[in-house]
Amino acid sequence: TEKYEAGLEKSRQTFGQKINALFANFRTVDEGFFDDLEEMLIESDVGYETALRISDELREEVKLKNVKRSDEVSQVIVEKLVDLYGEAGQDEDNALHFTDNGQPTVFLFVGVNGAGKTTTIGKLAHRYRQAGKKVLLAAGDTFRAGAIEQLQEWGRRVDVPVVASQPGGDPAAVVFDAVKTAQQEHYDILLVDTAGRLQNKVNLMNELEKIKRVIKRELPNAPQEVLLVLDASTGQNALSQAKQFNETTQVSGIVLTKLDGTARGGIVLAIRNELHIPVKLVGLGEKMDDLQDFNPTQFIYGLFK
Ligand code: GDP
Repeated sequence: TEKYEAGLEKSRQTFGQKINALFANFRTVDEGFFDDLEEMLIESDVGYETALRISDELREEVKLKNVKRSDEVSQVIVEKLVDLYGEAGQDEDNALHFTDNGQPTVFLFVGVNGAGKTTTIGKLAHRYRQAGKKVLLAAGDTFRAGAIEQLQEWGRRVDVPVVASQPGGDPAAVVFDAVKTAQQEHYDILLVDTAGRLQNKVNLMNELEKIKRVIKRELPNAPQEVLLVLDASTGQNALSQAKQFNETTQVSGIVLTKLDGTARGGIVLAIRNELHIPVKLVGLGEKMDDLQDFNPTQFIYGLFK
């Protein structure tokens, strides 16, 4: 929790600063105030539509409760945001899913280069290894120079084997080998890295589809999770990437990385309101322990505290 708090420091500061600035000019709850509030929310990357919706609902709430003092207004804002966030995610399931039939569980990681896929896989491998599970990694990004070595480096660091080919090899073949190994050698969980070259989108999406088919042929219920890794510091860009990936690869959850280094924590609200894909994990640094399950309530209170 301490880590979580520290990781959010940057988002909180700017959110807090913006709220403070808003209330520094506070005279009365008038239209000007709501305009400023909208602007602040948009700047914090909650998304345009979401910002308008929030400010509309706040306007109602402020009227309804007849609040006038600035501390009361700010209290209403935080409460309303927590409510809205909770409502939008009512049907969301932010748990990670595993098999219960003795077969290996497979998680497929997708996302653009640099989002943090390899790092997240390393961190998660460490987590499951610590929990006493037998973990295997597959180097499905055979395209980007260095991607294979980078995963192998993580494998050494957290003491987990990696199935890999030569650079330029067929990713689906690597994944096929990894699935076979996982079955034959009774691994509990297989984490699959994939390429992220969005500049050749059609090609990449076909590759991801093929990887999924190969997995399904051996393990019909797998992959149990398709996790889209997004860099929180890219703000609205992350949102449009998510839409593109979700069109072709059914994404089951989002890993939001680099929340330690960004003031754009508001992106979480946008993801929930516009994508309806649950955030399942958050990255709060580059080290193996810097990965946490996403706790929505804690997160939102952290932002506005
Ligand atoms: P990939 O191309 O999607 O596999 O991305 P990488 O895993 O190689 O990550 C790209 C860079 O982001 C690396 O320098 C990582 O150390 C860094 N990174 C990944 N996750 C986080 C995070 O949660 N916080 C911070 N600060 N850096 C991260």
